[in-house]
Parts: sequence; C-alpha cells; structure tokens
Amino acid sequence: MKPTHQSFTISTLGDLVDNGMGIAWACDDCHRDLDLTLSRAIEMWGHDQTYVRWKAPVRCVRCGSRNVSMRIRANTTIKQATGRPFEPS
Ligand SMILES: [Zn+2]
Repeated sequence: MKPTHQSFTISTLGDLVDNGMGIAWACDDCHRDLDLTLSRAIEMWGHDQTYVRWKAPVRCVRCGSRNVSMRIRANTTIKQATGRPFEPS
C-alpha cells in the first residue's frame, strides 16, 4: 500500500541522521547489541541506503549469526520536537 501523504517521510540512513534518529542492531540469537552505529553504517553503505525492509549485511561477531535485527530509536538529545517522526500506516 502506498502512503497517501507526501509530507514527512524518513526512508534512508541519511534521513535518520538529519532527524536526529539512531539505529541499534542486535543479534536475535545471542541477544547482544552489535557494535554498529548509524554513523558507521553510513560510512559503509552511504546516506542513500534505504532502511525500510533493508537488512544490513552484517554478522554477529560473538556467535556468527546473521539473524540481526535493527531497531530505530529516537535520539534523546534531539532539541527540536519533530511532531510525528513516522507516518501512521
Ligand atoms: Zn549473536
């Protein structure tokens, strides 16, 4: 289903940075956080990498699993309220 609004969408890693958001990656098998930050991800895959339905090609260094999940998180240091950071689906 296509979004009906053109207003404010965040679809790339660069958009997340611009909006003060971050991403955390965690291993689904051993449940450890990966040492991967959004800024590192941008160094590796670029600002224009979309994150929606994207699975970072990374592997957990502790257990070797590729079952890595990504969580978007709001940056708590954000100074300006953005209203609704996501469009309701
Ligand atoms: Zn693991």
